[in-house]
Amino acid sequence: MFISTRSKGEQVSAATAIKKGIASDGGLFVPETVPHITVKQLEELIHADYQQRAVAILKLFLTDYTQQELNQAVARAYGDGKFNHPKIAPLVKVVQSTHVLELWHGPTSAFKDMALQLLPQLLAQAMGKTGENSEIVILVATSGDTGKAALEGFQDVDKIKIIVFYPNQGVSKIQGLQMVTQQGSNVSVIGVDGNFDDAQTGVKEIFNNEQFNAELGKLGYKLSSANSINWGRLVPQIVYYFSAYLDLVAQGEIKVGDPVDFVVPTGNFGNILAGYYAKLMGLPVNKLICASNSNNVLTDFLITGEYNRKRPFHKTISPSMDILISSNLERLLYLVTDGDVTSIKTWMEELQSKGSYRIPAKLQAKIQDTFTAYWADDKLTTDKIKAVFTEYGYLLDPHTAVAWQAADEYKKSKADQSIPTVIISTASPFKFNDSVLTALTGKTAGNTDEFTLLEELSKLTGAPVPKNLSSLSNKPVRHKGTCAKDKMPETVKAVLELLKKEAD
Ligand SMILES: *Cc1c(COP(=O)(O)O)cnc(C)c1O
Repeated sequence: MFISTRSKGEQVSAATAIKKGIASDGGLFVPETVPHITVKQLEELIHADYQQRAVAILKLFLTDYTQQELNQAVARAYGDGKFNHPKIAPLVKVVQSTHVLELWHGPTSAFKDMALQLLPQLLAQAMGKTGENSEIVILVATSGDTGKAALEGFQDVDKIKIIVFYPNQGVSKIQGLQMVTQQGSNVSVIGVDGNFDDAQTGVKEIFNNEQFNAELGKLGYKLSSANSINWGRLVPQIVYYFSAYLDLVAQGEIKVGDPVDFVVPTGNFGNILAGYYAKLMGLPVNKLICASNSNNVLTDFLITGEYNRKRPFHKTISPSMDILISSNLERLLYLVTDGDVTSIKTWMEELQSKGSYRIPAKLQAKIQDTFTAYWADDKLTTDKIKAVFTEYGYLLDPHTAVAWQAADEYKKSKADQSIPTVIISTASPFKFNDSVLTALTGKTAGNTDEFTLLEELSKLTGAPVPKNLSSLSNKPVRHKGTCAKDKMPETVKAVLELLKKEAD
């Protein structure tokens, strides 16, 4: 069963936790106990493919889903040519004892696909299992990447509709094209006249508007958000830690039982937390290294024990990590306090009211048994992209470069140099073509067309442009709708009417 991080009492099945997304008291859902995996179970998965590994891990948490349901969900998420690599999440050895886990072979070339391909399947099944009569409407406000990954994941999933709001002026040309060319009979994409905050505020107001929700309810719709605190987004991420480890064994780099370090480019703390769950389940994870950009609130927290969001917000070249409130940290606090919901509730209230909280020294020490943290500014990030390409011929995107920089820092003080390092790579370098080209050539792209940049980057590095990006220029634009920032509720209703008419 799943319970809240902030109070005792509510106890729900995995299906309900995934459908609700957030607990009634505002806390996050966590499993009551962490399941354990035996050495024998691990050994049986060494030669399994990604889908088999996924089902084996998922079923330990999603005990109310049948084996058949999980097989189907995983096949739909990771099968059928959705990923452009047969291994789904390939592990690439770049240099002695340094391996890169590439999580960007999915339909949008970034790691959000790993979770957002599977969550919609789990959610659709959850609706059946919980006797839900309404249709679910997923509302997303996006600054670019998450919206596209959600659209791809929810495309044509039964009994679910998805509406994505993006800032008309606030996304790159490629990001915009990725969204407005989206296929699917249940999707809608709307450009808001405003910036990302306007779009996000609008979506939040819709969620909090009881009257509007009641009106939608009468029409048979229920809103949901599918955001990164949903357990259904976290659990798919545990799988690739196991998969990376098993690949190290399969490639003869380690034996089952040997320790491995993971370096994770971190924003909302979801990815790295999944690594901690893997460790608690029995995967021999030595250290988890948290890598941040100039928004280094997590580095400070993991080193000092104080979480303080009162600091300037930096726009960096690794924008998916530009975050000052890392929501999933709450689940780590739950795990390391053995479920001290009273303290967690207090800390979260302090974070809200005064912008900071401090955990006791003993707890901090316990966290540091596993976690260490480093950060890199844009200059170090850029230098690392250039250095790794020059030395090893391996091309990093800016998020992964932040992690590589952290890995290098960590290695300086690492006691046992024989422990292999896995660097988690969260985006294709082509997704951030502008910053990557600048890092390699020293020249800024200026107003050069993004498709030209993709070609230039490909020429310079010999790496192919991912098809999902190169093919965008000749896909038909399907979504031309825009709306004023104060007209978002009306737009939601109009979109739902239109989608219904089209379906009839
Ligand atoms: C979302 C994202 C991250 C941060 O992951 P969290 O789970 O939020 O810590 C890092 N890199 C890229 C490219 C992302 O899209």
